[in-house]
Amino acid sequence: MSYTDSTEVAQYIQGQRITGSGTRTQPVYNPATGAVSRHVRLGNQQDVDAAVACAQAAFPTWSNTPPIRRARILFKFLELLNKNKDELAHMITAEHGKVFTDAQGEVARGIDIVEFSCGIPQLLKGDFTDQVSTGIDNWTLRQPLGVVAGITPFNFPVMVPMWMFPVAIAAGNTFVLKPSPIDPSPSLFIADLLKQAGLPDGVFNVVQGDKEAVDALLVHPDVTAVSFVGSTPIANYIYETGAHHGKRVQALGGAKNHMVVMPDADIDQVVDALIGAGYGSAGERCMAISVAVLVGDVADKVIPKLLERTKTLKVLNGTNLAAEMGPVVTPAAHARITGYIEQGVKEGAQLLADGRSFNGAAAGEGCEEGFWMGGTLFDHVTPEMRIYKEEIFGPVLACVRVPDFATAVQLVNDHEFGNGVACFTRDGNVAREFSRRIQVGMVGINVPIPVPMAWHGFGGWKKSLFGDMHAYGEEGVRFYTKQKSIMQRWPESIGKGAEFVMPTAK
Ligand code: NAD
Repeated sequence: MSYTDSTEVAQYIQGQRITGSGTRTQPVYNPATGAVSRHVRLGNQQDVDAAVACAQAAFPTWSNTPPIRRARILFKFLELLNKNKDELAHMITAEHGKVFTDAQGEVARGIDIVEFSCGIPQLLKGDFTDQVSTGIDNWTLRQPLGVVAGITPFNFPVMVPMWMFPVAIAAGNTFVLKPSPIDPSPSLFIADLLKQAGLPDGVFNVVQGDKEAVDALLVHPDVTAVSFVGSTPIANYIYETGAHHGKRVQALGGAKNHMVVMPDADIDQVVDALIGAGYGSAGERCMAISVAVLVGDVADKVIPKLLERTKTLKVLNGTNLAAEMGPVVTPAAHARITGYIEQGVKEGAQLLADGRSFNGAAAGEGCEEGFWMGGTLFDHVTPEMRIYKEEIFGPVLACVRVPDFATAVQLVNDHEFGNGVACFTRDGNVAREFSRRIQVGMVGINVPIPVPMAWHGFGGWKKSLFGDMHAYGEEGVRFYTKQKSIMQRWPESIGKGAEFVMPTAK
């Protein structure tokens, strides 16, 4: 069954699409048209129990399967993903609204992690020390945890789950995914592809839902670890509740990413970077640039060009290949972003471009009722304003003017979020000092959206990440495995008599 046929999106448990026992449903919109395209059935405690039980039952065999055989299934999955990547991108555009080419980019960045995970035999190789004491060897190995859960946000319905499950299952765990109910369909398509690739039933399961399903996962005694990506208040809640119930937790939260523009930067490059990183995906990226920090007199050169480009953004239905920006995701998101724009005006920021005036009819045929807005640009934003402090998560760019480099660094470091940051300059020393002093997890030098590659790992600092392991990369492998140390000797090396002192190397 193709996703376009289904009027209801539900659970995927033990290798089957099933309705489950949840009684509540939620509409799934096409944000471009505002139409309800299908409904998602929200899973309940029983659905979570069923998914975890299947995953638990699949764990002994899957974890005992040699890593290279697990990798071969992922290689096959990779092949299927590459064959179906445009279908996945279409599904993203249809439920999230982002433009098709951006959705293709999302799928490609997810595929990177699958490629990384195919290298699991090498990643799981342990350490060995010969002769730690006479006749004794010591080695360490990493073993999977058991059933692990992933709880993911609406803004990357393919890529963010792929930050988690390829690494987790490659490492020998079994997985329960709880996707965002806003764009739930890709998760089931992914489950189908995994099955086609030969993944045994029960290794990968999907429970759709909201807080009810999340809470059931957080307290379930058989869930050993939880990976979460979403907003900061929920990340904090997941971290505290999961840890309280004895689970390993990595919870990635929200962001307010700054781009510091030094006076020596190339102005056209700066404007291109701000336009793309501020308004791409309608600003609904955790690595979107939402604050431009303009140092010295650079503001007078950047702002006129930025304003011109903001006003001429191609805001179109994401299915139109000419589109630069699509709609925002839901009516609630539209109302929240509109509220922030009103707030910015009230607080005294200078509103240069007002996205509220955008009419959906201009986005294409049938878009009149969609969740549309244009790009919004504020100048003279100051650190005490709410539009500076809080994550808006929409196409709103705030410009803050600062006198010098030191003030720019201080401003960024004082912010409660620390996900991504960029600095545009031609000065190597400024770039180096910026990278070293900035209190942010992911730094771009003349790179506006520095999302680390699959083998480097993704994670912010401060309120952008609760827990100590980043997603994917080697930290991802460490998160989904526990280290065991084995010390071994053979009877020929054992001296006579009991030892009562702390053993030392002999
Ligand atoms: P969200 O926090 O509303 O939802 C994330 C997940 O948590 C969803 O699966 C949702 O169903 C669940 N959830 C929501 N409310 C809950 C509650 N009260 N109790 C338990 N579970 C709950 O986030 P969103 O709106 O889907 O996504 C946008 C947010 O995600 C932004 O803040 C963005 O910055 C953040 N994000 C962060 C990263 C990162 O890597 N740091 C990446 C992508 C998105």
